Amino acid sequence: MATNRTFTMLKPDSLEKGNTGAILEKISASGFKIIAMKQTQMSKRDAETFYAIHSERPFFGDLVEYMTRGPIVAAILEKDNAVEDFRTLIGATNPEDAADGTIRKLYASSISENAVHGSDSDDNAAIEGSFHFSGREIF
Ligand code: UDP
Ligand code: MG
Repeated sequence: MATNRTFTMLKPDSLEKGNTGAILEKISASGFKIIAMKQTQMSKRDAETFYAIHSERPFFGDLVEYMTRGPIVAAILEKDNAVEDFRTLIGATNPEDAADGTIRKLYASSISENAVHGSDSDDNAAIEGSFHFSGREIF
C-alpha cells in the first residue's frame, strides 16, 4: 500500500556548493510538504548503516567517505504518491541520464556525487526517516 511520505537527504556536495536553498525551493514548489528537517553530519558508522544494502558494491568505501565529509540536510516529505513522485523529481542516479529539469540534472556532479537522496520504497522511506528523526521531530 502506498503511503504519502518519503525521505530525502541533500548530500554534502549540495551544501558545499551553496545549493541548499535552491533545492529546497524546488522540492516545495513541486508540492512536497516538509514535515521534518535538520542539518546534521553522518558518522562513518551512520553512513555504513544507512547504505548497508550497498556494502558489497565497489563504490561503497567512496560512498561512505563522500556522505560523511560534511553536513547534510535530512528531511521527511509528504505528498500523495511521495516516493515515486520524488524519484521522478530527482531524476536518474547518473545525472547524465537524468531528465531535463530534475534536481540531479541541475545540481549533481556525477553518478557518485549526485546532490540528493530519495527513498526507493515506502518501507525504506519509513526506515530511513526513523533513522534520522524521532517522533517528536516530525510535524
Ligand atoms: N553510487 C555510486 N556509484 C554507482 C552507483 C551509486 O557512487 O555506480 C552512489 C550514489 O551516490 C547513489 C548511492 O550510491 O546515489 C546509492 O546508490 P543507488 O543505486 O541506491 O542510487 P539512488 O537510489 O541514490 O539513485
Ligand atoms: Mg537507492
